[in-house]
Amino acid sequence: CGIIACVGSDDAVGELLTGLENLEYRGYDSAGIAVQNGSGIAVRKKAGKISDLKDTIASDVPNGSVGIGHTRWSTHGPPTDDNAHPHTSHTDEVVVVHNGIVENYESIRRQLEAEGYEFQSETDTEVIPHLVEHHLDRGMDVEEAFKTAVDELDGSYAVALMVDGEDKVYAARQDSPLVVGVDDDRFYLASDVPAFLDFTDEVMYIQNGDFAEVTPENLVLTDREGNVVERDVEEVEWNA
Ligand code: GLU
Repeated sequence: CGIIACVGSDDAVGELLTGLENLEYRGYDSAGIAVQNGSGIAVRKKAGKISDLKDTIASDVPNGSVGIGHTRWSTHGPPTDDNAHPHTSHTDEVVVVHNGIVENYESIRRQLEAEGYEFQSETDTEVIPHLVEHHLDRGMDVEEAFKTAVDELDGSYAVALMVDGEDKVYAARQDSPLVVGVDDDRFYLASDVPAFLDFTDEVMYIQNGDFAEVTPENLVLTDREGNVVERDVEEVEWNA
């Protein structure tokens, strides 16, 4: 029920966990994070409280400057470790967190399973990383694969996605909230402003249908038609 992404942080894991705690008020039953750590994407996830996730990570904290995190309020599949986000494609190349509901996940899942894609959870969300990988396998680049995949989804979504080896986060939204936090040499993405308010109060609101490609240096937003769009950055005053 909450998404956070840090792009260009000195301590992605620390900031992701802080962000998730700041989203706790939205309610959740599981939590997880994924970070690019130079030798693949490290995924840690757990049913239960964010403190349970922290305990799981404590003995083995992954390093990294780019990462995504999620607090889950289950709609499809009970709150278990396997059903917690992030979800990965079967080669672990694509990693996704998602808020919302993929209404047509059953037909997409059946189709991908028939082609040999193996699923590890009962969630609607897991079709997203597999679908993106499916399009990558057919020769699309990441941007095209992600856009094509989200175009095929019915329902509501805020999605943040990473691909192994790229210090980048891709994001898209349709009827689920997603805002950007802007700092000097880094960006945040989140379901709501309080997630990153400890780090920055400069905010950009992503419109329905927008697609974001974010590196530590640069954020590019495109609209549904593929045109590059500029959105205003506002300073927020927030009384928590
Ligand atoms: N529908 C997804 C799931 O059940 C996402 C739920 C959420 O927004 O937290 O895993």
